[in-house]
This record gives sequence, C-alpha cells and structure tokens, in this order.
Amino acid sequence: MKKFWNWVKNEEGRTLYFDGYIAADSWYDDDITPQKFKAELNASVGNISVWLNSPGGDVFAGNQIYNMLKEYKGKVTVKIDALAASAASVIAMAGDEIVMSPVSMLMIHNPATMIFGEAADFQSGIKMLGEAEIVERIFNDYVSGKGTFVIAKELNAEGMLTVAGGRWHPSTVLNILKNEKYKGDVKLQKTYSKDHLTKKKCINHGEVDSYYIEENHSPIVTKKIWEEAQQVMLQRAEAKGNATDTKGKHQNRYPLTGMLFCSKCGAPLTRRTWNSKYDCKKIVWQCSTYIKEGKKACLGTAIDDATLSRLTIKQKTVVEEVLKGGQKYYRYTSKSK
Ligand SMILES: [Zn+2]
Repeated sequence: MKKFWNWVKNEEGRTLYFDGYIAADSWYDDDITPQKFKAELNASVGNISVWLNSPGGDVFAGNQIYNMLKEYKGKVTVKIDALAASAASVIAMAGDEIVMSPVSMLMIHNPATMIFGEAADFQSGIKMLGEAEIVERIFNDYVSGKGTFVIAKELNAEGMLTVAGGRWHPSTVLNILKNEKYKGDVKLQKTYSKDHLTKKKCINHGEVDSYYIEENHSPIVTKKIWEEAQQVMLQRAEAKGNATDTKGKHQNRYPLTGMLFCSKCGAPLTRRTWNSKYDCKKIVWQCSTYIKEGKKACLGTAIDDATLSRLTIKQKTVVEEVLKGGQKYYRYTSKSK
C-alpha cells in the first residue's frame, strides 16, 4: 500500500497532507501502520496544519488518526481544501481549529458500521444499540398520547434502567425525545478542548463551530416519528403556555442577524442582497462599517449566505477572511464577551 499521508516542513511549522483515499486498503496489511503514522506525528513537536482533500477511505483508520491527532500536544489546525468526506471528515474533527475554503465540502455519509468519534463515542454507540428497544417504545408512547411523567413511571414499574443505570424521570424521557442521534443525525463538536494541552473536554455552547450532519448513522426511530415527537412536544408546551423559547427561534427571519462580526473593525455583519451582472442574485453578509462609511473606515468582510448555511452558528461569531495560496478561506472564532 502506498503511504496515504505526506509531511512538509517549512518555516511555519509542519504540515500534514492527506490527498486521496485514507488507507484505501486495510493499513494492517503491510508496513504502512498506525504505529508508523504515530511515530512520524510525534517525531517533532509544535503546532501542525493538516490539509485534507480526500473522498474518504477506511473509517477505522480515520478514527485512529483522529485519536492520535487529538492526543497530539501541539495545536492542530485542519484545513479543508476541497473535500473531506467520510473517513476524512472524521479526521477533520480532530482540529483544534477547522478552516474551510468557501468552495470546500465536509461530508459524512452513512455506513451502518460507522459511529463518529473516539472511544467514548463508540461506547455510547454500543449503548445506543442496546437501548434501541426502549427508545423506540418511548417515541411510540409519546406520540400516541402518553406524557413523559407516565412513560417514566411505567418504565420504572417494569424495572427498566436508564443507560446510566438509574431510574427514569420525565426529564430523562424528554432528553431522549429531543436527541437528534436517535434519528441518525449527529451534531459534531458538542464538546471541545478548551485547552489543547490538557485536552480537557467542555460542552460546546457555541464557543466553537458545531456541524450538524444528517444521516450519520443508522437511526433507531424514523425521521417521521422523531419530527412528530417534536411537534407533540411543542403543542404540549404551548398548551402549558411555556413555549416562548421554541417559538422565539422561528420569529427571527434571519437567525444570523446580530451574530456575525467583522474581524477587522468588530462591527456586525449585515445581510445584503447583491445583484451582480454575473450571478443574478446573491445574499451576502457584509461589514456594516464598510457599508455605511466605506473602505476608508474598514476594508470590510463579506461572506456568502450559502457558505454560512453549511455551519451552525449559535454564538456571536467573528468572521475573518484568510488569504492563502491565492484562495479565500474563512476562519470563525467566537466573539469574546
Ligand atoms: Zn469591518
């Protein structure tokens, strides 16, 4: 097997390139081994960049590389050149920072055997399969009219335990009903490393980008019943008069308003429709200082709405334009309070 990675060293540090398939064959078959990769990774120290342009490959190899990069002491910046699909998208998630070209794609498809992530995720995946029966029943009971209180009571009465081995509460039932993983989707980077030296995990409340991937793994319940459960949840909350939270989300026509900021001057980005000679209509978010006061006040930041639509932005985010090799990339960092 050909080595599927490549190191380049220059004054900026080390860059690791993955171009093409990640271990097209099993990487145990010959001398291209995980150990060899690890030895090369740890042969030097300092921050590294990882360039990815790969349609995927062996998911298991992808996971091992992901884990090794996660354990690596220096900062890991992942740059997606054009495509990071399947196994390559797993590697991409090892980045302390992920930079995507506006034309690049991050894609995770749906082999039944694939569970994204590290050891803990695999364990939860196995648990997920084990709890399938209870999960299915909870969804069915809920959409057919039972409340979370009754469902919890019945499960306890039958001696069923939660995944954590505890008793059922209405809130545990509700958490299952709300969890997108049961319909096969996944939100990546729910946790992130606050400090890449200690690799301490924190819950991602929007401090880093999170990506929502549909159909990441085999679902336990159908999308239809999952959506139905969300509807029922909303209706019951409305009936109780405490649905403001869920309703508010839909009131804002442009949920990104007030969320994006210019990296150069700090001003908010405003939504604009560009009418150009070439493409008839294009929606962009542009620095409001630049719009109001012109180039002298700020050189401006502009980003396509289409580019943003691939990201989930929940926290105030600074958008930075990065030029590298004649191409424009965007870097997203959370705006400090
Ligand atoms: Zn600006």
